[in-house]
Amino acid sequence: MQDFDTIVIGGGIVGLATAWAILERRPGVRIAVVEKEDDWARHQTGRNSGVIHSGIYYKPGSLKAKLCREGNRRLMEFCDDHGIRYEACGKVIVATSESELPRLESLYERGIANGLAVKRLSVPEVKEIEPHISCLAGIHVPSTGIVDFAAVCRKLADLIAAEGGELCLRTKVVGFRANGNNAVLETTKGTLSARRVINCAGLHSDRVARLSGAEPGARIVPFRGEYYELKPARRMLVRNLIYPVPDPQFPFLGVHFTRMIDGSVHAGPNAVLSLKREGYSRASFELRDFLDTMTYAGFWRLAAKHAKSGLEEIHRSFSKKAFVHSLQKLIPEITEEDLIPGAAGVRAQALRPDGGLVDDFLIVNGPSAIHVCNAPSPAATASLEIGRVIAEQIPSCAAIR
Ligand SMILES: Cc1cc2nc3c(=O)[nH]c(=O)nc-3n(C[C@H](O)[C@H](O)[C@H](O)COP(=O)(O)OP(=O)(O)OC[C@H]3O[C@@H](n4cnc5c(N)ncnc54)[C@H](O)[C@@H]3O)c2cc1C
Repeated sequence: MQDFDTIVIGGGIVGLATAWAILERRPGVRIAVVEKEDDWARHQTGRNSGVIHSGIYYKPGSLKAKLCREGNRRLMEFCDDHGIRYEACGKVIVATSESELPRLESLYERGIANGLAVKRLSVPEVKEIEPHISCLAGIHVPSTGIVDFAAVCRKLADLIAAEGGELCLRTKVVGFRANGNNAVLETTKGTLSARRVINCAGLHSDRVARLSGAEPGARIVPFRGEYYELKPARRMLVRNLIYPVPDPQFPFLGVHFTRMIDGSVHAGPNAVLSLKREGYSRASFELRDFLDTMTYAGFWRLAAKHAKSGLEEIHRSFSKKAFVHSLQKLIPEITEEDLIPGAAGVRAQALRPDGGLVDDFLIVNGPSAIHVCNAPSPAATASLEIGRVIAEQIPSCAAIR
């Protein structure tokens, strides 16, 4: 049995950033990162919009607001220090109907409350930044940027290895028990033990928490986000990032345009219930995942509250025409011919038994483990800060050689 001071489960950006934060504080600590796939960032982290969020959307004082704003700054600094390409290109959020104007204003005020240098934009000012938009008003958020989060993960993994951390790919955690003061993990590659385990298992974080005997108080419900991509000849329709005013009832931002760091332009993502936690196509299905959702009272309470918008999302998933219609609200000259199907991602969204979506990041501190039970967007942006917060919660860190 291999023994460590700390084991991190999950090789997405939250797990790797956490392992790095621990190593930065305690060089020489015996740490391992255990990931079931054959490479880093195979799930949410490698299948997202690649946006370094500013923190404008989040309730002032929430973990999301605090860790996103500081995470944005630290992530850009990390990229500067390690030669990772990113751009602080800024983004515009635009109101396309009269009814969205008060919500755009509230968003502007929230940006100010969150300490951001946001600016109100008139229509000509919006068009100066993004000439193809049609809107009634906008906000400019200069601190938003773009990056390849998988590239950040590869660099974090290199740094962890260089500091003596053990990187265990193709290693799935299948059992978790206490043995005195230690946690013992059964994996597909043998038994590991540690004084402290950090569960950063993303779409499986609730299951890993329950394996350890902890009760996270919420269940992960997977929401697939599907994208289209603009054909290269039509990328000129979008210079940087164009977002609608989000619906405050939902945790997702609404379909938007994102220029990726490789120059491609993505449109999306929508938000449809996925019948498989790691299911990236409409045909993806896994009986256990399906039953987990369907037998959960919280899901049915959520579905009852949002039946109409849920059905609209399903329609938009099957109908390119409906998807394009949403995009045309932002850029009227977009047509179905301009778009080709892109990759999809699945969001791990924690849902409470009462049907309420867990809005903030949720980090549960158990007897021998810390569980990251809700780390949806902007957790990639905030990852270095989430890692810092977790590292500071490990009392044994101070005692480790
Ligand atoms: C469509 C979409 C768009 C998004 N856009 C953005 C954006 O633009 N900006 C932003 O900041 N955030 C964005 N997000 C959110 C962001 O991607 C996530 O918050 C972040 O990647 C979460 O990282 P993670 O490490 O917690 O999860 P993951 O990246 O999912 O990593 C978890 C890892 O745990 C591993 N694992 C699970 N179970 C086990 C086990 N039993 N044993 C071993 N390993 C296990 C998995 O294989 C996986 O690699 C988006 C998310 C999606 C889905």
